Amino acid sequence: MAFDYDVIILGSGPAGFSCAMQSTKFDKNVLMVEADPSNLGGTWLNKGTVPSKALKEAANLIQRFHTQFGDERGRKPYEKFRMEDLMLYKRSILEEKNKKVKHDLIKNEIDTVRGYGRIIDKNTIEVTNQFNKKTSYTAANILISTGSSPQQPKNFELDHKTVLDYDSILSLTHIPRRLVIVGSGVIAFEYATIFSALGTRITILSESDDLLPFLDKEIKEELIRILKNKNIQIYHESRVKKVGTNDLRNCMEVTFKLKGEKRKYVSETEHVLYVSSKKANTRNLWSDELQIKTDDSGFINVNEFYQTNVSNIYAAGDVVGEASSAAASFVQGRLAACTMFDMPGDSPSKDIPYSIYSIPEISGIGLTELKAKEIGIDVTVGRAYYRNLTQADIKHENEGILKLVFRTDNLKLLGVHIIGNHAGDLVHLGQSIMAMDSSIKYFIEHVLNYPSYGEAYRIAAFNGVNRVHAAGVKYKKILEK
Ligand SMILES: Cc1cc2nc3c(=O)[nH]c(=O)nc-3n(C[C@H](O)[C@H](O)[C@H](O)COP(=O)(O)OP(=O)(O)OC[C@H]3O[C@@H](n4cnc5c(N)ncnc54)[C@H](O)[C@@H]3O)c2cc1C
Repeated sequence: MAFDYDVIILGSGPAGFSCAMQSTKFDKNVLMVEADPSNLGGTWLNKGTVPSKALKEAANLIQRFHTQFGDERGRKPYEKFRMEDLMLYKRSILEEKNKKVKHDLIKNEIDTVRGYGRIIDKNTIEVTNQFNKKTSYTAANILISTGSSPQQPKNFELDHKTVLDYDSILSLTHIPRRLVIVGSGVIAFEYATIFSALGTRITILSESDDLLPFLDKEIKEELIRILKNKNIQIYHESRVKKVGTNDLRNCMEVTFKLKGEKRKYVSETEHVLYVSSKKANTRNLWSDELQIKTDDSGFINVNEFYQTNVSNIYAAGDVVGEASSAAASFVQGRLAACTMFDMPGDSPSKDIPYSIYSIPEISGIGLTELKAKEIGIDVTVGRAYYRNLTQADIKHENEGILKLVFRTDNLKLLGVHIIGNHAGDLVHLGQSIMAMDSSIKYFIEHVLNYPSYGEAYRIAAFNGVNRVHAAGVKYKKILEK
C-alpha cells in the first residue's frame, strides 16, 4: 500500500527534529506536524533549554562583571542592568536558532504542517489547524515526539503575571527584588542561581527532604555551601498552603508549613516561580482502538529502539519520560529513525551525563563514590579544586571541584562529578575515557592545554594516584597498571 510519507513526526522538538534529519538522510519522505502556530523547536528552543541557557549566560556575565569590577556605590546588579536587555539578548539567540531550524528543514526537503496531530489509525494522522480545518495524511511509520508540559499546582493558581511557570518567567519585564521558587528540581536551581546573580533574594520551597538526590555527596555539599554564600534560603519538606497578595505591604505572600511543625510560615515576595514535575503530552493523542501502552503517569512505554507496542509507531523525547532532556531526545529521535528504516544504530551507552546549568554549573556521569562502594567496588577518588586552576584564577571563577571515581586495582575511570563553571563541557572528556574503558593514566600521560579547565583532570588524576600510593601501593606498580 502506498502512503503519503515514509514517516510522520508529531512535534518539532529535539526528538522530532533529529528523527526528521536522520530519516531524510536515509532518502525518506518526512512530514513534521507542529501544533504551535508560530514556532518550531518545542520546549527546546522556545520555553526551556535554549532560552534559560541564554538568560544564564547573560546573568553569569553580569555576575562576573559585578564581582570583578564591583560597584563603588554598592548597587545591586538589578539597579544597573535591565531585564529588557537580558530578554533582548535571549530573543536574538532564539531568533537565530529558529531561523537555523527552519533553514535545515527546508534544505533537507522536510515537509512541515502546522496544527494539532492526532493518530487515527496506525498509518493515519489527522491534523487540525488553528482555524479548525482538518486534513489527513498517511505514513508507513509514525513518531510521537510531543514532549511534556508542567503539572499545575494543587493549592494555588498560576496567573502568569506574578505567579509564574518556566514558560511565563521568560516574559518578565523587570528583575524582581525577591523570588520564591516552589519546587526543587534542576530547573529550580538553574533559575534560583540565575536570578541570584542579578541580585534577587531567593527562597526555595522544596517538598522533599533532600536536594538533587542523584548528586555525589561532596558535590552536593559544595552546592549547599555555594547557595549559602549567595544567601539562597531553602526550606525542605515544605508544603505551600496559600499564595496571595498583601495589599497593605504591596507584595505577594506565600504561606507554607514545614513537616512536623504546626506553625505557618509566611514569605513575602514579588513573584512566585512554580517548577514541578512534568506530564506527558499524550491527552487525546490517539484513537481508543490503538491502545498504545503508557505507564501510570501517562508516559509512553517503548523498547530500547523507542518502538511502542504498535510496531510502526515510535515515541521519543520527554513523552517517554526517561532522561527528559534535549540532549537525550536528540539521540532517541535519531535511533527511532535508524530502527524504522532498518539502519544500524546502537542504543546509547547506559552512562548518560547530566548537566545542571546553574551558576556555577554541575555535571556528572557514571558511578558516585557512594554508589560504587554500595555495590562493592573498591574505588579511590581524585579531586581538583578550581582554586588550584590557573584558568579559574584568571577568570575569577575559583569555586568548584572536579572529582574522579576510579577502580583502585587498575585505575579504570568509573565516574566524573563536577561543580564549577564549564562543568557541562568538561564532563565529556571523562565520558570519552569511560566509553573507551580506559584509566585515569590518560590524564597523566597526555598533554592537556594550559591554562585550561581541562587541566583539572590532570590535577585530579595525580591526586588520585597519590592517594593509592598513600594507601601503601608502590608508585612504580601503580603506573604500570
Ligand atoms: C526551563 C527548562 C530548561 C531546560 N534545560 C535543558 C538543558 O539545559 N539541557 C537539556 O538537555 N534539556 C533541558 N531541558 C529539557 C528539554 O527542553 C526537553 O527535554 C526537550 O525539549 C524535550 O524534547 P522533545 O522533543 O521531547 O519535546 P519538546 O521540545 O517539548 O517539543 C514537543 C513539540 O511537540 C509539539 N506538540 C505537542 N503535541 C502535539 C501534537 N498533538 N501535534 C503536533 N505537535 C505537537 C509541541 O508544540 C512542541 O513543539 C529544559 C527544560 C526546561 C523546561
